[in-house]
Amino acid sequence: MEMRKIFLLFLILALPLAISAQSGARTEGRGVWAAPGDFGKSEKDVEEFFKVLKKANIQIVVPMVKDTAGRIYWQSKKFPEAVHPDYKEFDLLWAITKIAPKYGIKVHVWLCDFPEGKDSPAFKAHPEWAMLNPQGGLTSGEQLTPDQVYEPVWMCPNRRPGYTDQWLLPMIEEIVREYPVDGIHHDYVRYPGDAAPDSYCFCNYCLEHFWSDNLFFYPSRPDVQIALKKNRLREESNWDLDFTVKPPNWAQMSREEKATFILEGKSINRPDLDYFYYELRCDAINQFVREAWEVAAAVRPEIEMSAAVFVNPMKSGRFIAQRWTDFAPWLDIAMTMTYRSHFQGSFEDYLTYLADVVRAQVRWVGQKCSYLVGLDAHYIFREELEPWEQAVRLLKSGGALESKEEFDRLMKADVVYLSAFSSPKAKELAAKYSSFGKGKITQEALAEEIGRVLADPPPGFFPESKIIRTIETARKAGAPGMIIFSASLLSRKKLWGGVEKAFSFTSSPSFEVVPAGPNLSIKTWRALERSLRQSEPKKTP
Ligand SMILES: [Zn+2]
Repeated sequence: MEMRKIFLLFLILALPLAISAQSGARTEGRGVWAAPGDFGKSEKDVEEFFKVLKKANIQIVVPMVKDTAGRIYWQSKKFPEAVHPDYKEFDLLWAITKIAPKYGIKVHVWLCDFPEGKDSPAFKAHPEWAMLNPQGGLTSGEQLTPDQVYEPVWMCPNRRPGYTDQWLLPMIEEIVREYPVDGIHHDYVRYPGDAAPDSYCFCNYCLEHFWSDNLFFYPSRPDVQIALKKNRLREESNWDLDFTVKPPNWAQMSREEKATFILEGKSINRPDLDYFYYELRCDAINQFVREAWEVAAAVRPEIEMSAAVFVNPMKSGRFIAQRWTDFAPWLDIAMTMTYRSHFQGSFEDYLTYLADVVRAQVRWVGQKCSYLVGLDAHYIFREELEPWEQAVRLLKSGGALESKEEFDRLMKADVVYLSAFSSPKAKELAAKYSSFGKGKITQEALAEEIGRVLADPPPGFFPESKIIRTIETARKAGAPGMIIFSASLLSRKKLWGGVEKAFSFTSSPSFEVVPAGPNLSIKTWRALERSLRQSEPKKTP
């Protein structure tokens, strides 16, 4: 046996023991997603922000470095045209990674993977990389609601060469090579969900690969059509005998006809071709997550990977190709976006559902990776926000004058609510409201005033008990840790004190990323591969 094999065998035998010994050290994980603006525009600002994080016992911060418009927040040498114009001088990521270690806080940099902007350098240089719908249209321009049009241009995750291997993976490689980040965080690692989930992707690449990836014809004899021979009684029970599915007139069909064939066509006895279509979409996402780890780990074997994922992997697999239970072995931490915006009903209803969901997520994640439940600091305040948002809606639609009674009721309730936390602010709002009644100020001016109250509310306006109860509910249901969306919301709503209280229940020095359990799962092999890479002598350039 080669030395290397003996070493591997030793690792296989020793690893489960090492893991079980380590599991006692496991502590609650606490994280926060943060926007570039949270860090400020100087090293001093960044330092101040880390002090806030440290005070709230945050162990992992996830700063956005690529947004949904395709702008990036590090001083990229490979993609200088994508750097956000406001960050050409100040290298935000350099400052973050310089300061974070002083506070013992891990940095997982957050990339919005597949959306780009209409004016983004990637889309401008390579419009052919974008996803197409059956009519050949882009995701931007999809009508979301009667008065809302979708903006981002999503890029096709499947196409090679394309956006994935020419743009996104090289970006990840560059970050890991140039900055001492602890991890890479995927967001939007999926197909578009709110904009037409069944309509993407029908680009030329995806249409042709539907047949070749499923091998629904023989490439050596592309024109041969083989009909299913029925030996067994039930039509579908003959599935294991070869047959072709690709229609003979495929080349003559329009994009729309091709899409309809895939979404509604039959392989044998009932319309099921869409099953193969949804499976391939999931495969494209799974492959990207795996490649991202491979690219990053080739540079720094110790690098961690994490992802923001939807509540339910079964549903998101079907609708947005994010069956994250499939790619969890290529992550170190799954961070579920279990925000109240995904639930109907009252706040109490949400807490009940949250506990059920956490228990399900714990099962779904299993031993595949670590898990933080993602909680929000905005939608939990639906009750507090609604009367204000309704008043603004009436003002903006001109309905404040038409439904005067309803508008007056809302405004009076808002002034009374505000007065419980700040009487000067309540008096100011009441004065503006009175001026509006006398026709002295416009509807827009009153709407702006309401906006100012919500942008800088007095402490207590958004009750911290709600964020504390949300965290406690997740904890009681068995979540090994929490990550909050987002730092900006916590700052604006003056909720850091609440987070400090909720996270002070134990002194938790660091969040242990839990490796695979005592089974030889893919994750264990990853750990082995990682050890081997670390033991390899460093290549000199
Ligand atoms: Zn495509």
